[in-house]
Amino acid sequence: MINSPFIYDLDQSELEKLLTELGEPSYRANQIWQGLYKQYWNTPDEFTTLPKSLREQLDKILRFEPLQPIKYLDSSDGQTRKTLFKLHDNRLIEAVLMNYDPSTHKGQGRRTLCISSQAGCAMGCVFCATGQMGFMRNLTSGEIVAQVMYYARMLDAQGESVTNIVLMGMGEPFHNYGNTMAAIDRLNDSDGYNFGARRFTISTVGLVSKIRKFADEKRQINLAISLHAAEDAERSAIMPINKKYNISKLLEACRYYVDQTSRRITFEWALIAGVNDTEEVARKLAARLKGLMCHVNAIPLNPTEGYQGQATNRQSAARFKETLEQAGIPCTIRMRRGIDIQAGCGQLAGFVDVLE
Ligand code: SF4
Repeated sequence: MINSPFIYDLDQSELEKLLTELGEPSYRANQIWQGLYKQYWNTPDEFTTLPKSLREQLDKILRFEPLQPIKYLDSSDGQTRKTLFKLHDNRLIEAVLMNYDPSTHKGQGRRTLCISSQAGCAMGCVFCATGQMGFMRNLTSGEIVAQVMYYARMLDAQGESVTNIVLMGMGEPFHNYGNTMAAIDRLNDSDGYNFGARRFTISTVGLVSKIRKFADEKRQINLAISLHAAEDAERSAIMPINKKYNISKLLEACRYYVDQTSRRITFEWALIAGVNDTEEVARKLAARLKGLMCHVNAIPLNPTEGYQGQATNRQSAARFKETLEQAGIPCTIRMRRGIDIQAGCGQLAGFVDVLE
């Protein structure tokens, strides 16, 4: 069965083609689509809208559920759940659900899901547990979609739903561009899960050619750039990609993106004590970002075993924000989520050292 096509890898027209080949009317494809993306069914038995014989046939030729949850970690405040999934080839990936309490978040409850686009990652950012583990393989579009469907089903049982999706888990989404966009398109399909494009955020280390391509496609998806340093020497030391695309080239592509889409861009900044959390660095960053429609999202570093850097303290974070804002660059200091469950990307997969 491992070589059978994975049902979430199929788009609606591919599903129709398959059903036609089986001699079934095309409306059967729509029934399956609705079952997958509106009812969140994930085993053939659940597709009670289909004749039993067809369910049995589909079970023989398609894989329905390859994402096997093998470990959960819930944060002590109960607001964050991380799931480690085993793929059909035993690779491990993670997805994290973060609940934002309405009383602490502008009166709006949010459930943000952070998903993976690759098993491992080739980008080698030194502060990141996934980067420390190296690259295994790209996820298929269906494996990206299935992470969302897993949580959608879980939340649906509680009368809730995912409100935002960020591609900020394991992997560099622009290094797996085609499958990432195909997954978003499938989740965005108004006939199925119908998850609005503006509720997705893609986070990239800055693959310049892909930022330009993304800009040309004029999608409504939010874009975030992991920046973390204002000078090339510092950025190259923690993010090897900077040797290929330096900060000037990256920010040129960001300006192109803003020009093409008229959308604000977000810069992610992991505040590392004594490294990039000083007023001097904030001033350099402000000079780099001047005139760009942007926002800086700063978050104290999530410590990992393979990197010596420590998280900033509250006082330095506040000073960093103030310096940026005085220079006209909006900045938010975000809370670290799920520290006690190792919610930084890659930390759970790295934690499980025995693959079955
Ligand atoms: S931070 Fe993102 S791009 Fe960098 S190594 Fe980790 S997963 Fe890859």
